[in-house]
Amino acid sequence: MENPSYRVLLYYQYVPIENPEQFTTDHLQFCKDLGLKGRILVAEEGINGTVSGTIEQTEQYMQAMKQDPRFANMPFKIDEAEGHAFKKMHVRVRPELVTLRLEDDINPLELTGNYLSPKEFYEKMQDENTIVIDARNDYEYELGHFRGAVKPDIKAFRELPEWIQENKDILEGKKILTYCTGGVRCEKFSGWLKQEGFEDVSQLHGGIVTYGKDPEAKGQLWDGQCYVFDNRISVPVNRVEHVIVGKDHFTGEPCERYVNCGNPECNKQILCSEENEHFYMRGCTHECRTHERNRYVHEHDLTEEEVQARLNRIEERNTVVAE
Ligand SMILES: [Zn+2]
Repeated sequence: MENPSYRVLLYYQYVPIENPEQFTTDHLQFCKDLGLKGRILVAEEGINGTVSGTIEQTEQYMQAMKQDPRFANMPFKIDEAEGHAFKKMHVRVRPELVTLRLEDDINPLELTGNYLSPKEFYEKMQDENTIVIDARNDYEYELGHFRGAVKPDIKAFRELPEWIQENKDILEGKKILTYCTGGVRCEKFSGWLKQEGFEDVSQLHGGIVTYGKDPEAKGQLWDGQCYVFDNRISVPVNRVEHVIVGKDHFTGEPCERYVNCGNPECNKQILCSEENEHFYMRGCTHECRTHERNRYVHEHDLTEEEVQARLNRIEERNTVVAE
């Protein structure tokens, strides 16, 4: 990094917040006054945020937060950056910090899995009796994950409990390790596993981003990159080796480049090379390519004839592949 004069902060704290609406209004003003940009969720159960700013701005923010007894011990994960990682500053009230929608909500302050340091996690994941479960979404897993980790076949975190119930047999009698980006999802997920009767449940404390910075674990046994919810899209984790696990949506070739589908109504995140983005007009399907509001077509001012010519080329390629 040539000029790392900015920082990205990632943090959360489960702690009761009375009147989250008022807190949100005040906190948004506070962040704007500091000049921060980012996304913060506030709920009665706590706070979960990612913000970017200059070193000075982020330092002021952390100092101010530490003055508040509710956040005095809140860990901040700090990444260096060359500029802001967001366009705007949002602070929003939510019913919960992560959308799990459990029938019986879990309070991680009362029930959660054991916390493992990166070194402990690194050692324990190599134990034969251990099963590692990725508590994130599929598009996050596809870009990178711990080697051998189980990816629940779900589209959103809230579907995870149902998946676990249907796949109890692969978990029975195992030591369960869970992980997510910064740790906030695992607090509830691991607590929920314990409530379901699984006894040996542990979580990666501080999440993948902490694991990648740890001087002992060095991000080892992580393959690919870590998906992050800001303009950077991904950050490196493994500092010993880099194994690409991402696959191009169109050709299956190794790929770590994300784009949003050009159809604004789809907007699905797909991995694809720059070459394939042009070839397929950034559309994840034929329907998305030919959608009347396809952003790629508009950005490149493609005429109807040009679009048709490209569709013909796609058809030709598909025919060749099928033969
Ligand atoms: Zn699409």
